[in-house]
Amino acid sequence: MGVRLPSRAPLSMSIDTQIDQITKLPKPLIAALKKLGLLSVRDLLLYFPYRYLDFSRVKQIKNLKPGENVSVRSTIKSIISRFSFRGRISLAEGIVSDETGSIKVIWFNQPYLAKSLSPGEEIFLSGAPEIYNGILQFANPIYEKASDFPVHTSRLLPVYHLTAKLYPKTLRSLVAKALPLADNLTDNLPQMVLKSQNLPTLSQTVKLAHFPEKYDDIILSKKRLAFEEIFINHLSAQQYKMLLAQKQSFSIKFDQPLIKNFVDSLPFKLTGQQKKCAWEILQDLKKPMPMNRLLEGDVGAGKTLVALIAALQTIRDGFQVAFLAPTEILAQQHFQTALKFQVSPKISGRLKMGIWLLTNNYSKSAGGNTSKVQLRQLITDGAPGLYIGTHALLENKIKFKNLALVIIDEQHRFGVEQRASLMGSGKKTPHLLSLSATPIPRSLQLAFYGELDISQIKTKPLGRKPIITRIVDEQNRAEAYEFIKKQIDDGRQAFVITPLIEESDKLGVKSAKSEIEKLKKIFPELKTGLLHGKMRGQEKENVMKQFLENKIQILVSTSIVEVGVDVPNASVMIIEGAERFGLAQLHQFRGRVGRAEHQSYCFLFLSRLFVERAEKGGKRDDAAQRFSLFSQTQNGFELAELDLKLRGFGEIYGSAQSGINYKYFDPSYTSLIAPAREEARKLLLDDINLDKYPLLKAKIADKIIHFE
Ligand code: ADP
Ligand code: MG
Repeated sequence: MGVRLPSRAPLSMSIDTQIDQITKLPKPLIAALKKLGLLSVRDLLLYFPYRYLDFSRVKQIKNLKPGENVSVRSTIKSIISRFSFRGRISLAEGIVSDETGSIKVIWFNQPYLAKSLSPGEEIFLSGAPEIYNGILQFANPIYEKASDFPVHTSRLLPVYHLTAKLYPKTLRSLVAKALPLADNLTDNLPQMVLKSQNLPTLSQTVKLAHFPEKYDDIILSKKRLAFEEIFINHLSAQQYKMLLAQKQSFSIKFDQPLIKNFVDSLPFKLTGQQKKCAWEILQDLKKPMPMNRLLEGDVGAGKTLVALIAALQTIRDGFQVAFLAPTEILAQQHFQTALKFQVSPKISGRLKMGIWLLTNNYSKSAGGNTSKVQLRQLITDGAPGLYIGTHALLENKIKFKNLALVIIDEQHRFGVEQRASLMGSGKKTPHLLSLSATPIPRSLQLAFYGELDISQIKTKPLGRKPIITRIVDEQNRAEAYEFIKKQIDDGRQAFVITPLIEESDKLGVKSAKSEIEKLKKIFPELKTGLLHGKMRGQEKENVMKQFLENKIQILVSTSIVEVGVDVPNASVMIIEGAERFGLAQLHQFRGRVGRAEHQSYCFLFLSRLFVERAEKGGKRDDAAQRFSLFSQTQNGFELAELDLKLRGFGEIYGSAQSGINYKYFDPSYTSLIAPAREEARKLLLDDINLDKYPLLKAKIADKIIHFE
């Protein structure tokens, strides 16, 4: 793998040299590099290009064609600097030639070029010549003094993400200078793995990625980086899984009559898929090793009940269950649901088993309010029961004595450490059940949930109708309001979602506070309610309660109702400023209606400003297409695939938000997942603690554990 570059780095430089110790780097440049997180030579080498420009074709001047990316090796005949016609722009202008002809070159705003380049000098130029005033010329080509090792021209040119005061050439030169030191990089991947997968070493990869000779070099380097990422991810996942399997957990007896009674007492029949999932979970709970299962199902699929069945069985056996929700509203709602369905075995002669709620603002028992101190005492005493709550359940002061099952709703909302902290340090590890409506495309499930067992609720309860979804033009707003009025007259309720709490004139985006004022005027006879994140717990609860009891007919809210909120009587969802939300989020909003047998509707309004801009920029069609796809698709998985196509993998799963941060992996590398898993498994079977592989061990230690 030959890379045409100097073979020695400056003597004073090593791989650990800090950026500010590299001689002759100006201060602003150091600051710019630091801003990108590039603190050492090693960081520089591992800062990979995100794309390439192809200037590898070197042509003779007589063969140049307009619009074609090429390089020429030529001699400067003349060069001058001057001001443009109107005197605004400074130019450097010259003629270069080779043995076949000559061509005009012009650079804008770089007058100093006339001083740094002089006639007779041999240079490389890279760019696309164009015809101006009838003659072919180069405008703003990249130039470089001719040498055997062109860095900026005449090659596949690396393009990096930059920042102010950092220029492409500067970074490229620095990387080129440091490149020979790539040989000193330690490789995370064991030789054995590289060999069997036919992958380049890290040193080779770094060279290939920064200064490839051909396209295949780029492909190979990317493949290797993606492989490493999946491999390490799976190593961590599978190590966790294997270690977990060696741990002790609570073996929860399956009390069939109890579960049957409970299911029979429900006002509806469980769907086949709910039953199947509940069964899988109850089987896991029986085992003496900890469960680590994800219950996945689209919004409104009925995950809560399945989780409550698992809770019921665990409490019945005398243990504690913690049920974590990401918001106070949701915790409240689960608490109400648990009370409504009486997830509390009435068994004589045993400890009284309760249902409790603990959030920052509340501590409640089935009977009413209870003090936090008292509730904490119950937890520490190991009183069997279902403890529903928010992050408040994760506080240090709270020590479950007898915790056998942890349920995490909307698991992606919780950080890794938060989840880990509940799993406790006792002799036994509790079972873990995560609930998620985040649809991960099937092809990618393994990439994300390697260590998890998955139960899927694939269908919604019977009788749910597709939600009729429409984008409504501003001129039809009045009609939409009339429609809402009719629905409400029929006994239904409506949500109105706005992007902001308060008006912000600059943005022209709707806010909850101004929207509710407007709606009050339009519907003086209806009761409206306001919900947003800055309200106090008690206020929020009152509003939600009134909405649940149909004492409020129109609930104006910010995105805090996004996850989980369940008001089956609501049938209209209006989303203002819909362009400000991603498809997955819109789907979550839409999932707030259509949760019972009523035909439901979702109306999307776009901000005026957005429409104006989109029309000007010719982007209206893009937006229209996105929303029309959204209207036609009810299925969260399909929407996830769609979102993936429209926004790209990096945008959705490349961020810390998604829980897993893939930098190099993307769906085009799906075929690497199986071999990466297999290599990880082989390694772990041989050495589960990775003692022979300290680098890998360190690498996955800082990933901690992910209880997805
Ligand atoms: P999600 O999966 O989005 O968390 P929920 O668990 O909140 O959904 O359930 C949505 C609604 O469907 C709730 O009102 C719940 O009581 C109801 N539900 C659950 N299972 C069934 C079923 N089998 N038949 C009818 N309604 C159901
Ligand atoms: Mg839910």
